[in-house]
Parts: sequence; C-alpha cells; structure tokens
Amino acid sequence: PYEVLVVGGGPAGASAAIYAARKGIRTGIVAERFGGQVLDTLSIENFISVKHTEGPKFAASLEEHVKEYNIDVMNLQRAKRLEKKEFIEIELENGAVLKGKTVILSTGARWRNVGVPGEAEFKNKGVAYCPHCDGPLFAGKDVAVIGGGNSGVEAAIDLAGIVNHVTVLEYNAELKADSVLQDRLRSLPNATVITHARTQEITGTDKVNGISYIDLQTGAEKHIELSGVFVQIGLVPNTDWLGDVVERTKYGEIIIDQRGATNVPGVFAAGDCTNIPYKQIIISMGSGATASLSAFDHLIRSEVP
Ligand code: FAD
Repeated sequence: PYEVLVVGGGPAGASAAIYAARKGIRTGIVAERFGGQVLDTLSIENFISVKHTEGPKFAASLEEHVKEYNIDVMNLQRAKRLEKKEFIEIELENGAVLKGKTVILSTGARWRNVGVPGEAEFKNKGVAYCPHCDGPLFAGKDVAVIGGGNSGVEAAIDLAGIVNHVTVLEYNAELKADSVLQDRLRSLPNATVITHARTQEITGTDKVNGISYIDLQTGAEKHIELSGVFVQIGLVPNTDWLGDVVERTKYGEIIIDQRGATNVPGVFAAGDCTNIPYKQIIISMGSGATASLSAFDHLIRSEVP
C-alpha cells in the first residue's frame, strides 16, 4: 500500500503529495485531471509572491514540482469508491483498486453554471466566478452578479467597492442572503437589486457587453449593458462518490477538523472539497500541507517499525 495516497491533483493534492514525499514515504497521487480548476483560469494575480501568472502555466509548474519527487502520478483516473478495510481502498473507474495506509481527499469543486447562451463562450472574457480573483479586472466598470444567496450578495458588496456599478439578478421574489448582508447591500449607492429576474443570455462580441433577462412579473425581456457577469449560484464539491462513508455537510463538503482529519481514521481531506472557509489556491495549498503533515503524524503514531 501507499503510505499516503492522494486523490485529486489540484493545488491541494499537489501540495499534500509533495509534503508527504519529502518525508521519504511511499506517496501516490491519482487525479482525473492533473492541475484541477487552475487549468480553466486565465490569469492568477493573488498567489502571493507571484505577481502574475496564467492558469495552465501554474498547473504545469505544479506538475513539474511534483515530478521532482518520487511520487507515483496516476493522471486521467477517476476514483469512484472509498472503503476502509485493513487499509483504505480507493476503487477507480477503470476497476483498479489502490490501497493507502492513509488517504488525502482533495477532489476540489466546480462552480455551478447558469447554463444560458454566452456563459461558456465568454468564460474568462467577462464571465467570472470568483470575485476575490477577478474583481479587480472590472475596476470602474459595470457588472452583474447572478444569484442573490449569501455568496451572490457577498460578491456584490465586495465588487461594489471596486467596480462602477453592480446589479444583482435574483430569480425569486426575494434575496435569500442573510438579512444583515441584504441591508448592507441596499445601503450601497452603486448597487441595484433586481428580483423576479430570469437570466436569458449573456451577450457580447469578443467579450461580454451585456445581459438579458426576463422580468417574471411582466414577462418582458430586458437588457443591461455591462462588462462583466459574476455567476454565484453555488460551488459544488466533487464528493458524491464518497457516499455515506465520509461525513459531509448538507452542501456535500467533507467535514474536517483543524488538522484536516475526517471522521474516518486515516482519511484526511484538503482544499475546495472540504468545509474550510474560502476557496482559493493559496488556501487549498495550505490545507493540503496540513492534511499531509497530519497523515504523517497518524502514521508514526499507528505503526511499530
Ligand atoms: P481543484 O483545483 O478543483 O482540483 C481537484 C482535483 O481533483 C482535480 O485534479 C480533479 O481532476 C480531481 N478530481 C475530482 N474528482 C475526482 C475523482 N473522483 N477522482 C480523482 N480525481 C478527481 N483561486 C485563486 O486563488 N486565484 C484565482 O485567480 C482563481 N481564479 C479562478 C478562476 C476560475 C475560472 C476558477 C474555476 C477558480 C479560480 N480560483 C482561483 C479557485 C481555485 O482554482 C481553487 O480554489 C483551487 O483550484 C482549489 O484547489 P483544489 O486542489 O482544492 O481543487
């Protein structure tokens, strides 16, 4: 068996694998798509000490760093089941079963798409998902936020401090965000809330130039001119394959303690697939390191050499 078997090859998994390998223990990393979400990211400007980089370049550096070590990299392999027997077993889609004395889950998450015309076409060309990452790209411009839950309203408050004007589009009759957030949003001079709004299309030519929605109260189609659209209708963790074996929140996030431990002894988790607050590269990498050091700690306490 591996001493540390990492499932997921994004920033969290790469960090976990490197920290494990540096202890000189047998380490493997299995990933559906090595690199993870950063492969879909255009520019990264908040990975501290690197002023600017691009997602694919960042992913290539992750891989290069991992390959510096004696780590078994199993790319393009999807895990479909976890079972705790003598060791922790990870069954892959292709039928193979990998064993680990400890396992670190770092399968990440994906932003829920609105699925309207223009969304996919203008991704990274005005359509964004992360206000902490991409907010400054829209300084002084007009933007919309789709979604009036906590994440949408938090995003709008955050963006209002940077952009010229922010419009929140909510499908329902009311925002769902906590009332303290709603009050805060409504107090801002450059934020507008539109409820009963069903997004129809994100418009543009080479980049976003507006958004069309149906006013569900009148049935009329309306259009707003703007430069950016932040989609904030949920972040879905890639954890369904774990079923009931590993404890998760109602949103599907793996529940971990401050050491990265899950409810299953020997199983740790890190990054966007967990319930740690704020989903960012730098945070995922930190939590990957935490989970890995905890896995090592678990090994030295549970084994007689
Ligand atoms: P992920 O990056 O999601 O990686 C998950 C890994 O697990 C992948 O390798 C995936 O293939 C694999 N996997 C999933 N399911 C399975 C399975 N069943 N079996 C095997 N492998 C599996 N953050 C910033 O800090 N700055 C930014 O500028 C920034 N911009 C972003 C822009 C976009 C468009 C997006 C989508 C995100 C952005 N983020 C940014 C967020 C950042 O990318 C994530 O916080 C970070 O990638 C999370 O790392 P992770 O390792 O936890 O998960």
